[in-house]
Amino acid sequence: MSAQQTIHVGGEWRSAASGATREIIDPADATVFALVAEGGTEDTDAAVAAARRAFDEGEWPRTPVAERAALLRRVADLLQRNREALGALESRDAGKTLEEGRVDVDCVADAFRYFADLVMNESGGRVVDAGSDEIHSVVVHEPVGVCALITPWNYPLLQASWKIAPALAAGNTFVVKPSEITPLTTVELIHLLEEAGLPDGVANIVTGAGDPVGARLAEHPDVDLVSFTGGLSSGTKVMRAAADSVKKVALELGGKNPNVVFADACESDEDFDTAVDQALNAAFIHSGQVCSAGSRLIVEESLRERFIGELARRAEKIRLGRGTDHGVECGPLVSPQQLAKTEEYVASALAEGAVLRAGGRRPEGEGYEGYFYRPTVLDQCHREMRVVREEVFGPVLTVETFRTEDEAVALANDTEYGLAGAVWTADPGRARRVAGRLRHGTVWINDFHPYLPQAEWGGFGKSGIGRELGPSGLAEYREAKHIYQNLAPRPVRWFAG
Ligand code: NAD
Repeated sequence: MSAQQTIHVGGEWRSAASGATREIIDPADATVFALVAEGGTEDTDAAVAAARRAFDEGEWPRTPVAERAALLRRVADLLQRNREALGALESRDAGKTLEEGRVDVDCVADAFRYFADLVMNESGGRVVDAGSDEIHSVVVHEPVGVCALITPWNYPLLQASWKIAPALAAGNTFVVKPSEITPLTTVELIHLLEEAGLPDGVANIVTGAGDPVGARLAEHPDVDLVSFTGGLSSGTKVMRAAADSVKKVALELGGKNPNVVFADACESDEDFDTAVDQALNAAFIHSGQVCSAGSRLIVEESLRERFIGELARRAEKIRLGRGTDHGVECGPLVSPQQLAKTEEYVASALAEGAVLRAGGRRPEGEGYEGYFYRPTVLDQCHREMRVVREEVFGPVLTVETFRTEDEAVALANDTEYGLAGAVWTADPGRARRVAGRLRHGTVWINDFHPYLPQAEWGGFGKSGIGRELGPSGLAEYREAKHIYQNLAPRPVRWFAG
C-alpha cells in the first residue's frame, strides 16, 4: 500500500512535508485499508497561504454569481455520477451501511444545488432609505475571506459539504481539515471540485490530526473564519484559539436529544408501531453516532411498560455487520476508543441503578472482529446519571418517564445541549405548545431525523454557535457592508476653523 498524496495546496496534490503517514482502519474488521498523508503545521501554513493568495489575488471572489452557481451544479452532477463509489467508500471508512452512504451522497448533491439556487435567486444589495434624494445607501454582502473548515468522522462527506457549498457559493476560499479517522471521501470531494473547474488555490485540504492541523487553522492570523463541527471539548478549544485573531467562529457541536412520546400518540396499534419504529431509528441509526440521535426517550408513564417492552424486543433483533453486507441494519462503532467509551457509559449507568432491557454487550462470533456493540436500552434512568447528561455517541438509549406535559417539557429541556428533539402526540394543540417550549434548534413533531437543505440546522446552548443550511447557512460565510454614497457633498462646518 503506497501513501496517498492527500494534501492539496494551491492546486497541487502532495504528501506531508514531514513524510509522515496515517493508517485508515476499516471499523468492521479492524484492518488497515488505506494510507493518507499525516499533515502538520508546515502543510497547514502552506495551505492557508495558498487560500489567502487565491482570495486576495485570484478570480473566484469576483467570479459572477451565475458562474459560481454553475460550478456548484456541476459538482452536484459529479457527486451523483460517483454515487456508488462514494457511498461505498463512506460505508467502509465510517462503518455505516451502504444505503446510508448512498443517501449521504444524495443529500450532499442536494446541498450543492440548494446553495447554487439560493445565490442565483438573490436580488443583490439592499437599498436603504437614508431620507434624502442626495444619498444613495446600500447594504451588500461580500465573502468573508479564507475559511478554515474542520469536520468530524460520523458524516464526513455531508459535514464537509454543508460548509464547502455555501463557502464557495459566497465566493470564499478555504482549507478543509477532515477527521483523521475518516478523511477519504473529503479527499475525493476535492478531486471532484478540481474536475468541475474550480480555480487552483480556492479549495485546499490538509489531512492530519486535530492538533496540530485543526489547532493551527483555528489560531492562524490569515484565516478569517473557522467553521467547526465536532465535540464540545474540541469546539471550546477552537473558540479559544480563534479569540486572539478575532476571527468569525461557527460551531456545530454535540447533542443529548430528547424524544418525547405522549400516550395519545399510540392509541391505535398502527400508531404504536410507528412511534416505536421511529424511536429505534432515532436512537440506533449509524449505531447512535449521530449528533441529533434521539438518545433520551421520555415516555408518558401510562405507556411506559408497553412501549419499552416492544422497543427492547425490536432492538434485540437489529442485525449488525459490515455495512456493505446484504441485510445489515447497523454497522460497527468507528474506533476502539468509541467502543470503550460506550462500554464505560453503560457500566456507569448500571452502577448508578439503570436497568438493562436490551444489548449492553459486544456481539460474539465470526464477522464481529471490528468495533461492534449491541443496541442498548437502559430503563429507570434519571438526570443525575452521566449517561443521561453526557453525549455517548454510541447505540445507547436511556428511558425516563413523565406524568404531565410540564414535566415532559422540563425533562426534555434539562440538558446543557439543545440541538434537536421530537414530540409524539395526536393532539395538534399540544404538539404546537410543546414544540414552542422546547429549547432545541430543530423540533420534529411525529417524526425524527429529517432535515431540509432549505431549513437552518444548529443548536441552542452548548450545541453550538450559528447555523448551517438555509439562508443563515450562507450568511455565515459573508460579511455585510454598508456603502453610503453622498451624491451632493458639502462641508459639514462642525469645526469653525
Ligand atoms: P472531535 O471534536 O473529536 O473532532 C472533530 C474535528 O475536530 C476533527 O477533525 C478533529 O481532528 C478536530 N480537532 C480535534 N481537536 C482539535 C483542536 N484542538 N483544534 C481544532 N480541531 C480539532 O469530534 P468527533 O469525535 O470527530 O465527532 C463527534 C462529535 O461531533 C460529536 O460530539 C457530535 O455530536 C458532533 N457532531 C455535531 C454535528 C452537528 O451538526 N451539530 C454533526 C456531526 C457531529
